[in-house]
Amino acid sequence: MKQSVKLIAGNWKMNGLGASLGEVETLCAALADDRPACRVALCPPATLIERMVRRAGQGVEIGGQDCRAETHGAFTGDISAQMLKDAGATLVILGHSERRQGYGETDGLVSAKAGAALAAGLAPIVCVGETLQQREAGRAVEVVRSQVMASLPLALAGRDFAVAYEPVWAIGTGLTPTLTQIEEVHRAVRAAMIERLGLGIAATPILYGGSVKPDNAAEILAVPEVGGALVGGASLKAGDFLGIIRGA
Ligand code: PEP
Repeated sequence: MKQSVKLIAGNWKMNGLGASLGEVETLCAALADDRPACRVALCPPATLIERMVRRAGQGVEIGGQDCRAETHGAFTGDISAQMLKDAGATLVILGHSERRQGYGETDGLVSAKAGAALAAGLAPIVCVGETLQQREAGRAVEVVRSQVMASLPLALAGRDFAVAYEPVWAIGTGLTPTLTQIEEVHRAVRAAMIERLGLGIAATPILYGGSVKPDNAAEILAVPEVGGALVGGASLKAGDFLGIIRGA
């Protein structure tokens, strides 16, 4: 992932049925008419990956929202990185706060999953972010830095991946940090990434996520060190997602 080309990735979470694929067709038709200046990705539920890959064509990369660290075995209900790859995915979101909080995922587990994703040929998007309590206690930078250091396996050096800074309190709430706060944390994420993986990752994109909408996308994407966006709710409708893509 090159720093010069931003990545706008949509996270559909547990939303979307076959009928929703029309949104992807609308999106792809618009992008084919007017090619975007950025990379575009959509991460639907696993049930839609293969169908979405067939509809999306070249212009939109398709990813998973999580994977198991193991390659196979007796893990009912789980999905491996190889399975996502086999379905046509090229990337995978890992360590989203909804998984860290809802399923007790630790930095160590996220790191193991990122290693599994790399081994399967997927580009991980590793999520980090502080809670409101941590921000109010003045600990945002410290918390995020510690997550970066412990969630990124050394094997990521020189590989295709991204980090997404997603303040937990900004996800799905309509709240966003100030542009200054976003810049402060992104600079800290970059410093931690370099400390962990070396200068070679200076161009790896750091995405911002948390209530990105068409009307705030351009100003957020213009912040230094913001290399793209991870978008939840506003990625479900082609028109909204396009509005964000056009802001990149
Ligand atoms: C997300 O789920 O990663 C996210 C950023 O959600 P939203 O854009 O809806 O805040």
